[in-house]
Amino acid sequence: MDPIEARRRLEELQADLDRSAATLTAEGAGTGSELSSMDQHPADAGTDLQDADRQVAVLEAISDQRRQVVEALTRLDGGTYGTCVDCGGRLPEERLDARPEAARCLTCQARVEGSR
Ligand SMILES: [Zn+2]
Repeated sequence: MDPIEARRRLEELQADLDRSAATLTAEGAGTGSELSSMDQHPADAGTDLQDADRQVAVLEAISDQRRQVVEALTRLDGGTYGTCVDCGGRLPEERLDARPEAARCLTCQARVEGSR
């Protein structure tokens, strides 16, 4: 992928993730924006607790993906973008197209996920 295009996609993704996180946080129980305070003060009703749990899980997924996007931007700066961080092989174009923040080829990714 063209590095300029890759950077544009990554920065767009990062902005999207920030927006999603901000929206989710704003929709929270209204006890403040810090996640830790949600653990200590679950919302009044039991049904809201489930919502809060799900919200925390979604926020974690967002921050995880955001970290991957930031790392991809760092690799872009370092000139190693588009290569697998484990084996150094080129990432297939269609993989980068689907996941511009991808750090590993499918083989290495499967190994990492399998070892979890
Ligand atoms: Zn690899």
